[in-house]
Amino acid sequence: MQLYNVIDGERKAPIGGEYIQNINPANNEIISMIPRSGAADVEEAVNAASEAFRGEWSHFSATQRADLLDAIADRIEDRLEEFALAESRDNGKPVRLAKIVDIPRAIANFRFFAGAVRHDQTGCHMMADALNYTLRKPLGVVSLITPWNLPLYLLSWKTAPALAMGNTIVAKPSEMTPTTATLLAEVFNEVGAPKGIFNVIHGLGAEAGAPMCSHPKVKAVSFTGGTTTGRIVAASAAPQFKKLSLELGGKNSSIVFADCDFEATVAGVTRAAFLNQGQICLCGSRILVERSLYTKFVNALVEKASAMKVGDPLAEDTDLGALISLEHREKVEGYIQSAIADGGTILAGGKHPSLPGAYKDGAWLQPTVIADIAPTCKASMEEIFGPVAVIHPFDTEEEALAIANSVEYGLAGSVWTSDIKRGHRVAAAMETGMVWVNTWLHRDLRVPFGGVKNSGVGREGGVNSLAFFSDSQNICVHLQ
Ligand code: NDP
Repeated sequence: MQLYNVIDGERKAPIGGEYIQNINPANNEIISMIPRSGAADVEEAVNAASEAFRGEWSHFSATQRADLLDAIADRIEDRLEEFALAESRDNGKPVRLAKIVDIPRAIANFRFFAGAVRHDQTGCHMMADALNYTLRKPLGVVSLITPWNLPLYLLSWKTAPALAMGNTIVAKPSEMTPTTATLLAEVFNEVGAPKGIFNVIHGLGAEAGAPMCSHPKVKAVSFTGGTTTGRIVAASAAPQFKKLSLELGGKNSSIVFADCDFEATVAGVTRAAFLNQGQICLCGSRILVERSLYTKFVNALVEKASAMKVGDPLAEDTDLGALISLEHREKVEGYIQSAIADGGTILAGGKHPSLPGAYKDGAWLQPTVIADIAPTCKASMEEIFGPVAVIHPFDTEEEALAIANSVEYGLAGSVWTSDIKRGHRVAAAMETGMVWVNTWLHRDLRVPFGGVKNSGVGREGGVNSLAFFSDSQNICVHLQ
């Protein structure tokens, strides 16, 4: 199969004529060849988006835009199985996870932002002699750049509010997970969306992503990905004063107090560490446990992690599929080796499970729990982005917070305790954009989403997304 870019509603081959392999990390089969696009392809896509911004789309009312988002959601729902299978093959994740999390969440994103723009309000400020009212105007062409871990989920999280506010889009998925973005472009055509409002460019970040950030006609860049890439994106977009939203990496702590609801906490902390093979920016990969509970908790965590089934992404009982690639697994394993060198003990996992037949050489890794390293070690300080959790004991609330806040990241965290006052207190003292108390990844699409420190700039979610994808204009009318 050969994928294509989608520009102005049409399938387009890359101008340079070059393609890249898209590989299924579970069996190393080539799924498709995808365009290796460059600046010339981006130029075409930006021009199409720019034309579309001034065309019939500019006359769509908020209600019409909301209706379009709902139609897109309905059509993805009709094709849910196909989307889920594509996501699983590109990424290696269990298809069950794609069916119950990734694709339903993408559908929910379109429906949510349809509702949000239908019910959106702008400000009105009376003065004794004048009336101020605020308009929200679309920005124009926006670039959306997304990573491989939650491909459609994160793309829809940006696409829906960008369209809700009347912008037009050039999107680039990761070259490792290109299929669902292409299917989404098909859906736009199926529901009769105006041509050119959603353009998809495939290719490598440095070749296709970079010109999407530096193009003068692009008014905003919404980027989700690693912190190092985020710096490059910011350096390219900032001199042109583009609006920038950067959702970057994380190294998140799960803080477990001895008075927690034990069974629920073990289940919640295990899920936080290993969901999606630990490849979620919000994963709780540093587990801090009050010393009096430490041994009991470690034993239960190790038992749960060791019981997780790693393997066939298409089997309904699989807990962990393949990592995104063999190269990425090597990077993750490098962190396991560094923990061993730092005196760490591998309590669970750390190895490749042996799988039969076509899956023999997939990018598998057992869920891994590491103890006995200092919280200052590399494996505890850096984002691993795989199924590897480190566990540390602590004696006091202050010590737990000091460890949690010692990383360069500030995305998320969780606190597990039955003392609700302590839950509030510790959550508020964490230097992160988001904290869950006695739960994890419990998401309300209205709340602000984003990080502090090296985890990013800006907030998405609910009105934050609507504000990011629009410019406010205040109009003051003198009344006397
Ligand atoms: P990368 O930063 O490598 O890539 C993200 C996207 O940026 C990809 O589409 C990539 O393209 C593209 N890109 C790479 N270089 C450039 C460039 N110079 N200019 C423009 N675009 C570029 O991240 P990963 O895909 O490896 O994703 C994992 C990272 O994403 C982790 O650090 C994770 O924490 C973070 N993340 C953050 C989330 C959050 O909400 N805070 C949510 C999910 C993930 P290509 O891959 O084709 O090279």
